[in-house]
Amino acid sequence: MSEQAKKKSMDDIMALCKRRGFIFQASEIYGGINGFWDYGPLGTQLKKNLKDAWWQDTVITPPMGPDGSAVRMVGLDSCIIQNPRLWVASGHVGGFSDPMVDCKESKRRYRADHLVVMGLPDAVRLYVFVDGDDDGREKALKTLSKYTKRTVQPEEVNIRPFPSLNDAERTVAVGPDAKEPGTLTAPRAFNLMFKTYVGAMATEDDVAYLRPETAQGIFANFKNVVDTSRVKVPFGIAQIGKAFRNEVTPRNFTFRSREFEQMEIEFFCQPDSTAQWYRYWRDFRVAWWKGVGLAGENLVLREHDRDELAHYAKNGAGTSDVEYRFPFTDPGFGELEGIADRSNFDLTQHTLHSKTKLEDFDPETNQKFVPHVIEPSAGADRGVLAILCEAYTADPSRPSGVFMRFTPRMAPIKAAVFPLVAKDGMPELAEKLYSELKPRFGCVEMDVKQTIGKRYARMDEAGCPFCFTVDGDTGLSQAVTVRHRDTLAQEHVALDKVGDWLAERLKG
Ligand code: ATP
Repeated sequence: MSEQAKKKSMDDIMALCKRRGFIFQASEIYGGINGFWDYGPLGTQLKKNLKDAWWQDTVITPPMGPDGSAVRMVGLDSCIIQNPRLWVASGHVGGFSDPMVDCKESKRRYRADHLVVMGLPDAVRLYVFVDGDDDGREKALKTLSKYTKRTVQPEEVNIRPFPSLNDAERTVAVGPDAKEPGTLTAPRAFNLMFKTYVGAMATEDDVAYLRPETAQGIFANFKNVVDTSRVKVPFGIAQIGKAFRNEVTPRNFTFRSREFEQMEIEFFCQPDSTAQWYRYWRDFRVAWWKGVGLAGENLVLREHDRDELAHYAKNGAGTSDVEYRFPFTDPGFGELEGIADRSNFDLTQHTLHSKTKLEDFDPETNQKFVPHVIEPSAGADRGVLAILCEAYTADPSRPSGVFMRFTPRMAPIKAAVFPLVAKDGMPELAEKLYSELKPRFGCVEMDVKQTIGKRYARMDEAGCPFCFTVDGDTGLSQAVTVRHRDTLAQEHVALDKVGDWLAERLKG
């Protein structure tokens, strides 16, 4: 797919989202705010369907465990703001506060203290490379020679740390992956966490953070849950909730937002059973994403290489990502969910920092132990975006030119009822059918306005799988015509059977 085609299709998807009320730019009437998105009526319902499906399938009815017995899962709803010490223990306070440098040309980001600068004493042009990168150093020397039109010797140049450059020097510095000078920003302290103040004084002692992930609220409540819920390892705690990251470059619609929702599980197990639980969650989670409509070659499971693993995951069963081929990542993929063996890292850290023992008792060995954790961590917004991209189906033969092929379970509108025209008793019959279907299926719409073609077009763009039309014959025949969204096939269904007919088809 060409760059333009990719962009165009993403533009089309975004335009449909706006036109039909799936997703709007936050504060649009004030010019928007970068990295924040609001969900409109259809988007809200779609996202709710996804979160409900996740809760139902992972918390209420997860598949049987590796040994064939039921898997124990419980829910949690922890606060967005926690004691800031929690974020010290988790590593988020210390871990994200390095000064970073962005390259406007290559879009790469570097740790400022990892960069060094090569130049001649007159400093007409400076070349930046990553400290310790011999190829980078050689490339810098070569380009410097080319620029000065002579062979510059290694002993002639000075090498300085990048943070020592002043503004003027930065304008003549060429970044490690750039061709033009002046594309590197000044080093900026960069912590992904949003800061806020708790209480009226707003002093540095009152600083708190908006959580950058829901997971840590689960670890902090481990003891509360164990003490109150009769759960024993192995068991999982699940949580759906908002997370906030002050992403430096929010982009690709909702894919990289500054406020988003996560659906996370911390599954606690015996240290010697992590491999089987890792496989259980990895395989289940990828199958689940297929079930909500991402089946096909756009969905992959990517196992991380050993050298990609986080420090605490090095000796564990592994990490894998469920990835989707979004129009803007094509031919590559973007992460929807990560499944990681986090060992006993988090519980150990919180035990150390809180001085509260976070452990379980093993009746077989008669000993206490710190459980290990498998973490399937998914993004609800990326999930919705993937479902929108996958569902978007161009069809020039339709008045709308496009329809949204949602699975019945994800579809924000399950069925629509139309009187063909607003006279001759048709609206009354349609109203009667609508009032039967609405309490049974919830998201059912009645539409009387505009031509039938326009009403179908609206429902195609909303991804409504079935439209029932009451026409001039319905009074006599006691039957309606149902139109199937995907095939455009039409058939008659007896008025008193519509509910059961629909129930049968919405099962999937
Ligand atoms: P990325 O590498 O894309 O920044 P991550 O590996 O930092 O993601 P995790 O910390 O593993 O992400 O978070 C779990 C999930 O939360 C991700 O798989 C993704 O679906 C979602 N997520 C993370 N960051 C964002 C964001 N900025 N916007 C939307 N969703 C996000």
